[in-house]
Amino acid sequence: MPLLSDTLARVKPSPTVAVTQLAAELKAAGKDVIGLGAGEPDFDTPENIKAAAIAAIHAGKTKYTAPDGIIELKQAICAKFARENGLTYQPAQITISTGGKQVLYNAFMATLNPGDEVIIPAPYWVSYPDMVLLGQGTPVFIEGSPELGYKITPEQLDAAITPKTKWFLFNSPSNPTGAGYTRDELKALTDVLMRHPHVWVMTDDMYEHLAYDGFEFCTPAQVEPGLYERTLTCNGVSKAYAMTGWRIGYAGGPKVLIDAMRKIQSQSTNNPCSISQWAAVEALNGPQDFLAPNAEMFKRRRDLVVSALDAIEGIDCPVPEGAFYVYPSIAGLLGRTSAGGTLIDTDEAFAKALLEETGVAVVFGAAFGLSPNFRISYATSDAALTEACKRITAFCAGLT
Ligand code: PLP
Repeated sequence: MPLLSDTLARVKPSPTVAVTQLAAELKAAGKDVIGLGAGEPDFDTPENIKAAAIAAIHAGKTKYTAPDGIIELKQAICAKFARENGLTYQPAQITISTGGKQVLYNAFMATLNPGDEVIIPAPYWVSYPDMVLLGQGTPVFIEGSPELGYKITPEQLDAAITPKTKWFLFNSPSNPTGAGYTRDELKALTDVLMRHPHVWVMTDDMYEHLAYDGFEFCTPAQVEPGLYERTLTCNGVSKAYAMTGWRIGYAGGPKVLIDAMRKIQSQSTNNPCSISQWAAVEALNGPQDFLAPNAEMFKRRRDLVVSALDAIEGIDCPVPEGAFYVYPSIAGLLGRTSAGGTLIDTDEAFAKALLEETGVAVVFGAAFGLSPNFRISYATSDAALTEACKRITAFCAGLT
């Protein structure tokens, strides 16, 4: 009998691993590598949040909690949804997990049967399709067009829905493009969903607070209250509060779904870390005044990167509304050869040659399901970004 499961065989190894591994090897060999791959803020968790965690330790809040989280955090989450999103949830409609990732995973595990389809706009965050596959579901992709900043249209969504569609997975602002849907654009999508009552909506609002130029963040159940009964509104403290390592994500949704997700979690990881939960209470209930300056800093970095990349002949870089990523197209560079002799026939070849020849580590677009592009995370210092853009410019100038 083989050791490994059939399910495992359905899951692809992460395509980002090759670049990340190569970057680590080059660094270890003493090469000057600038990593633009990491999807996390480069600043530390705010002091008041750390203090709340330390106080929780001293107060002995170090035991198991309810499997899906403490009531105090559920109440803070309900208050956050009401305050920021105009959504009314009761604590019994809230689930808390080990990062936003586990929230999504639990939801798929709790709802998918073999053959159930999940519509995923591409480019997508790398984990979405594989989580669906782990849940025995079938990912169905819709490609966003570069002209629309990689957003999908209502017509595309309508055409992708079949009787087997269980979920539409929505992510705005997006990883990897940074694209954010305006209220009107989202309303056009929710209008389609209102015509298909069997489709559930999973919205991943992880980058809510990272939106620029006055972009108004909105979420499906807020824009179309008629979807409230079949929407899972997912969020977390990782990105907005610089808490990636603390592992707290959460969601609000119909009780029947939340109960099912708790059942999955209670038989796998059980409660998320008790100390992190108390830190998250402080993150959501405490002062929010650092969010705006942080967003302003990211906007400045976005502008720095977009203007440098867009000036390169052969690269087209839309200006994203949010998150901390840009997703430039290299369509205009395909077929050329790098100074080091690599034929740039795919975005993977581009990213590999860029790393080997200049030390700049980016993630190639095929990893996110839409090519030929690459993703830069600009959650790093201005100096590193300026130097990286200089090297990318020189690399592209050297293509023949
Ligand atoms: N959703 C998106 C779109 C992300 O980019 C990420 C992390 O990169 C997550 C969810 C997961 O967040 P967490 O670190 O809280 O698990």
